[in-house]
Amino acid sequence: MANIKEEKLRKLKKSYIGGSFAGFIIIGTIVFCLFASLFAVFGLYIMDTKLRDEYARVSKTAEVYSILKDAGNDGISRILENRDNVYLITDADMNVIETHGKNTCDLSKGGKIDILEFTDDVAVPADEEGIHGHIGSMVEKARDNAITVYPDTEVAIITPSGRGRVMIDFVKLRSIISGADYGSDALSLQQAYFVKLPFWIDIPVDANHHMICKAYFNIYFRELAILSFLAVMVVILTFVTLIFVLAYIIKTVRNRKRMNEIFFMDETTGQHNWLWFITNAERELKKKHNADKKYAVLDVVFVNYRNFCVCHSVEEGDKMLCRINDRIQGFLGKHELTAHHSASHFAVLLEYRDRDELEDRIRKMIDDLEHINDEHKFYYWIGVDRIPESRDEKGRVVRRDNIDVEKEFNNAGAARATLTVEDSAIAFFDEKMVEEQRWIDLINENQMRALASEEFVVFYQPKYDPRTRELKGAEALIRWMSPEHGMISPGRFIPIFEKNGFITKIDHYMLAHVARDQRRWLDAGYDCVPVSVNVSRAHFIESDLAEQIKGIVDDAGTPHDLIEIELTESAFFDDKNALISTIKKLREYGFAVSMDDFGSGYSSLNSLKEMPLDVLKLDAEFFRNDDGDGRGQIVVSEAIRLAQNLKMRTVAEGVEEKNQVDFLAEQGCDMIQGFYFAKPMPKDEYEERMNNKTA
Ligand code: C2E
Ligand code: MG
Ligand code: MG
Repeated sequence: MANIKEEKLRKLKKSYIGGSFAGFIIIGTIVFCLFASLFAVFGLYIMDTKLRDEYARVSKTAEVYSILKDAGNDGISRILENRDNVYLITDADMNVIETHGKNTCDLSKGGKIDILEFTDDVAVPADEEGIHGHIGSMVEKARDNAITVYPDTEVAIITPSGRGRVMIDFVKLRSIISGADYGSDALSLQQAYFVKLPFWIDIPVDANHHMICKAYFNIYFRELAILSFLAVMVVILTFVTLIFVLAYIIKTVRNRKRMNEIFFMDETTGQHNWLWFITNAERELKKKHNADKKYAVLDVVFVNYRNFCVCHSVEEGDKMLCRINDRIQGFLGKHELTAHHSASHFAVLLEYRDRDELEDRIRKMIDDLEHINDEHKFYYWIGVDRIPESRDEKGRVVRRDNIDVEKEFNNAGAARATLTVEDSAIAFFDEKMVEEQRWIDLINENQMRALASEEFVVFYQPKYDPRTRELKGAEALIRWMSPEHGMISPGRFIPIFEKNGFITKIDHYMLAHVARDQRRWLDAGYDCVPVSVNVSRAHFIESDLAEQIKGIVDDAGTPHDLIEIELTESAFFDDKNALISTIKKLREYGFAVSMDDFGSGYSSLNSLKEMPLDVLKLDAEFFRNDDGDGRGQIVVSEAIRLAQNLKMRTVAEGVEEKNQVDFLAEQGCDMIQGFYFAKPMPKDEYEERMNNKTA
């Protein structure tokens, strides 16, 4: 294909869904990340602030203890009790040596966390002014060192993670909030707090003592509200983005389906179009598991379409095409396809087992299509191109990676183009057709050059009187002396020239050469006889044909009675009046006119009645396959008699046997042109024949 079309289609689809989808994902992710990081930053900020406050409080207590520890236990206790602290004093090995308040510290699970950024402006209660400077230095120290925290044994919600962070066990927290019993002591829900979570902070007092104070992680309602708001926002945004993406995907898929429908819809039938056919047929054929199956691509033509449109209307014609499309569709198996190609053409992909089965199916389809309308007799031409199983040199089944359905359909079309009968017919494509097409292309390419370089040569085939064996005339027959292909006989290029119109140039060329030859022979003293020149039916649309012929012959200065014009039987089916007028003019100018190949095609008896002809050339077929029952001879003798009665001379073509010559002599045939006397020959040989007048 249409590989370019397919590629473009694929790109279009990709960009359509892929580009926008990626855009959505990117925007969604950015928004989500923004809110999630806001949530995280805010959460961390709150946590850090709490820890910092508590650390500052515990640090101050430790500092007080440090300063007053020498003043005696009573003094220390009094001061610290006033501060409402719960604490432990341990030695360097973490053995508890003093406890104040209830010891709920889990010393077995200590972990380090980085302490937060403390500044010197930490608030200091009024009664502890004297220790202000010490706290400052203490906090400075804390900046450099991580501190150790211990979980509370009763409400172990805050635990050191061991990775420099305090972790909150949210599952437990949720249970606490929802009323689960974790010890009323540890969890005292106060008015201002939403929740108050205990943990323990370890402050080294000196080289031998640690003070481990109970601290609280207090979460206020407003903080929780902001956090919850952010959490809800993250959830909502994620959800909204998801809904958006989902809705977009659904919309895109739907649009793509609609786009495909429009892209692959045929305007005439409203069903699949040619592009759909190529895309899907190639996809089907390229599948690995289909490589061992045989397929056929059909070019189905509804031949009567134009006539039907003329008689009815184009709309009616198009409706008929829709019905044909439906009928063909009804004949297809699961993986078989059809689509309207153009005008009255349909493309069909069939799977088949063997040729007979395939032909049988197609005939059944034709039979059904012929009866699509009871008022008309429709007929169809079907070209078939078969795609065999795909195998490599070793006979292994291989994918049809390079299949080109457009080419296969073209082959089917080439086969279909060979059909001319006015009835339904099937034509199978084969390699001979490719050869033929190559040959036609070659002829088309080289014809002009060949004419200019005089590669076309005149051969003469003498005509003899069967009784006296005297030379009575000759026919000029063309030969192509090709430098590449040697001598090419007219059967291989005349039909091509007749189709492409080049035949008119050839006939003029031949006539000019023959006229010049005759003139030269006359001047050289030869006893010249009339030479007939073939004029193709393509000329008869030219109303001045007779004048053109006369002009060419006169240019050479040849007497008109030495030139005879041969018209093939098929020419007599064209415009009769134009033909009669040309024949009359030619005869007036003194040219003899003959009917070539009489009896080869449809009956020309009617033409004989109306056309004023001089010579009747009996077709060679009269003398082929005579089965000896005498019927052929009767036809020939009657044809000769008919010509005699119409005052026409007769020439028998293609005579190869002596008994045929004798019979024709007996019947009064005027001349014989056949291999029995002579084959078509080059000019110099013909000159010798003119010298020896008898055969
Ligand atoms: P045609 O005009 O009917 O020419 C007679 C053909 O019969 C010639 O074939 C000739 O060689 C062949 N023929 C004659 N006697 C015998 C015989 O005894 N046995 C057999 N087997 N064949 C015989 P050729 O030369 O191949 O020409 C074929 C056709 O090509 C001609 O049929 C004519 O229709 C066409 N043609 C040839 N030259 C010209 C030309 O210059 N212009 C046009 N328009 N057509 C030409
Ligand atoms: Mg002829
Ligand atoms: Mg002939």
